[in-house]
Amino acid sequence: MKVGVFSSKSYDREFFSARNRNLGFDLGFLDIALNKETVELARYFDAVSVCVDDLVDSSVLRALKSFDIHHVALRCSGFNNIDLKQAHKLGIGVSRVPNYSAESVAEHTLAIILALNRKLLKAGNRVLDNNFGIEGLLGFNLRNKTVGVVGTGAIGLTLVKILSGFGCKILCYDPVQSADVTALGHNYVSLQELIKESDVISLHCPLTEDSQHMLDHEAIQNMKDKVMIINTSRGGLINTQAIISGLKSKKIGYLGIDVYEMESELANNDLICEKIPLDTYQRLATFPNVLITSHQGFFTSESLVQIADTTLRNLQYYFAGKVCDETFLL
Ligand code: NAD
Repeated sequence: MKVGVFSSKSYDREFFSARNRNLGFDLGFLDIALNKETVELARYFDAVSVCVDDLVDSSVLRALKSFDIHHVALRCSGFNNIDLKQAHKLGIGVSRVPNYSAESVAEHTLAIILALNRKLLKAGNRVLDNNFGIEGLLGFNLRNKTVGVVGTGAIGLTLVKILSGFGCKILCYDPVQSADVTALGHNYVSLQELIKESDVISLHCPLTEDSQHMLDHEAIQNMKDKVMIINTSRGGLINTQAIISGLKSKKIGYLGIDVYEMESELANNDLICEKIPLDTYQRLATFPNVLITSHQGFFTSESLVQIADTTLRNLQYYFAGKVCDETFLL
């Protein structure tokens, strides 16, 4: 069976080819995204696989149907970039990868916390310059600090477990409480209390109408002075302008983000040689106490194996005429 793998990067080619060795799909890797301008390329395949940069709208779905393609296999968990209603109407199945390696994002979160606290980027650059002075590199111990974890699903819970080992006091907020968190001896509190009491606040909930800009001007004013804010979930959870004001006034002591509001224009694209046109991103990047990574929390070999295996299994199920409830949206 021929599968067109759109928006594929070198790592997709490597991991999908390796995991496909015994399955025998005829995988066609395409660098470009699937959208209404490129959909013509899909006509040579029996199914397509897409990721976050592809736009599978109504016109793309109609074109896929006209090419006799009846399945879109997402290589990510989110599905905001596909018109599910139209897919349903046209009888096109959609599958995704709902969970992959919570450790990858939780460990990346910890890496950002430690790098910010101990100023590792600045320290490394100084030493490269033969400057072994430590002035300005003062950090704090994580032991006994209060960490607020917002969202205790797969990733939040994994972070809670990791931070328990550091001797942190952990406060959690989630509308759905996990018995695993309380079994570890940690408490759920209101979002307001978490915001008021935490030295470090880390976001691990989805972006919804309710959670959009959950960290806004008012929330920031209620935080401890010199608070550390970490967001490895979705950019829209924080109001970037409010964060910039908080950084300018020094209310916020540290900011670590793997995701940003203006992400679709930045993430996963190599913009090193281009001028990034986004004033807010540029402003954020000027603060010495801000660490920004490129939506790479998921990016470990274990995650990529899981993404490839689940996507290929979804395709196997589809071609065998079966549906696996957990991963099939339609
Ligand atoms: P999950 O579904 O297992 O857990 C999400 C938790 O958030 C649930 O317990 C839910 O009850 C809770 N929640 C929902 N709305 C909330 C709210 N308003 N306030 C507080 N909690 C709320 O998801 P997960 O696998 O732990 O992923 C968490 C987030 O991490 C995802 O939404 C995604 O945005 C992000 N993510 C980032 C990367 C990356 O590479 N940086 C990779 C995967 C996922």
